[in-house]
Order: sequence, then structure tokens, then C-alpha cells
Amino acid sequence: MRERAVIAIDGPAGVGKSTLARRIAAELGYVYIDTGAMYRAITLRILQGAIDYHDSAAIRALLDIVHISFDPEGKIFLDGMDVSDTLRSAEVNALVSQVASLPEVRERMQALQREIGKDGGAVLDGRDIGSAVFPDAEVKFYLDASIEERARRRLSDGKESVFVELEAIKNDLARRDTADKERAHSPLVQTKDAIYIDTSGMVIENVLEVMLRYISGRSVG
Ligand code: C5P
Repeated sequence: MRERAVIAIDGPAGVGKSTLARRIAAELGYVYIDTGAMYRAITLRILQGAIDYHDSAAIRALLDIVHISFDPEGKIFLDGMDVSDTLRSAEVNALVSQVASLPEVRERMQALQREIGKDGGAVLDGRDIGSAVFPDAEVKFYLDASIEERARRRLSDGKESVFVELEAIKNDLARRDTADKERAHSPLVQTKDAIYIDTSGMVIENVLEVMLRYISGRSVG
């Protein structure tokens, strides 16, 4: 039995999971684990090494030597280098869902996530946290929003280059959603025990309030 909870936040791309997970972790004094950043870091390493992601021997060899870690502020390090700002490039966006569909990559990332969160006191956001990584999480949320709204938020949050158009963002989100929902290994699903919140039309502060109220109702924290 964990003394402090694991809080799982799943949902499609661009729904605001990472902002909310970070805020909830800060509020509760928990660690925040951005699991999408881990898949992005592996993807960046594959791009840097010009590795063919279909080559499973090469991917396994890479997974044996690559080192991913977080610092207490949530910055992510790839082989000791802070890559927090380079993980959201168009090149990484274009490849990450294919890399994340590889069973050997998922198994390794999930093991790392379980190890970091095993003692509780952790908020994890991703696609498979409540369904596969921590099916016994004390609190599970599934966040959703219309694709139009998610694309608009992406455009206004400054994570995308100003030259990227709304339509291109929408296409990227839709493509990743489909790949994430249809992959064979731990796809994006809403579990029965997850609290579903459609955040379309809601400001982040309201969503945060709803989530914190639910968490305190579960006597977690
Ligand atoms: O959350 P973010 O959009 O940064 O995630 C990038 C990609 O990583 C997702 O589109 C998905 O393909 C993959 N991912 C995943 N499982 C997770 C988190 C992210 O497959 N738990």
C-alpha cells in the first residue's frame, strides 16, 4: 500500500494535461512525470543518431544505453543534456507516435515510469497511465476537448512556431490521436474508473479547480 497517491491523467494530444499535471503536483507537493516527454526524448535520440526506427535490434541497443532523467523542476535530460526545449520540434512531432508504438520502447518507458512513481506522491500524464502503467492509481482522470479547441490552445500557448498554421496543428493532433488510439500495445483508452472531463469551453483554472476538488474528496494529498 502506497502512503501517498499516484494520480493518472490521460487523454489526447494538446488537451492541457501537462499544464494541469504540473499544477496539481505543485499544489500537493508531488513529483510530476511528463511521460510524453520521455517518448519525445527517445524520438529525438533516434533522429540525432539517424537510426531506422523499424530496425528493432538498433532500437533495443539504443534503449540499453540511453539515459533519461528528470530534475525536480521537471526539466528532462537525455544522456545528461537538458533537452526540454528541443522536444517539441516539428521533426519530433512527426515521428513520436510511430516510435511510441514500438513494444520494446513502451516496455522500457513504462518500467521507468513505474520505478519513478512506485512510492506514490506522483502525478503522471500520458496516454496509458491509468490503463497500463498504474492501473491501481488512486485517482484517474481522462481529459478531452474538441480538436478545434485543442489546436487553438496549441497555437496560443506558444509551444508551436508562429509560422505553423491552425490547420497544420489540427492535422498533427488528429494524426497522433489516431495512431495513439489504434496501436496494439497500450493504446489510448478511457478506463471505466477514470473521471471524464470535457474541457472544451473551460479555462484551465476551472479545470484545475474541478480536479483538485475531486482529489480532495478522495482524501488524497
Ligand atoms: O503528451 P505528448 O503529446 O507530449 O506525447 C507525445 C507522444 O508520445 C504522443 O502523441 C504519443 O504518441 C506518445 N505517448 C504515449 N504514451 C504516453 C505518453 C505519450 O504513447 N504515456
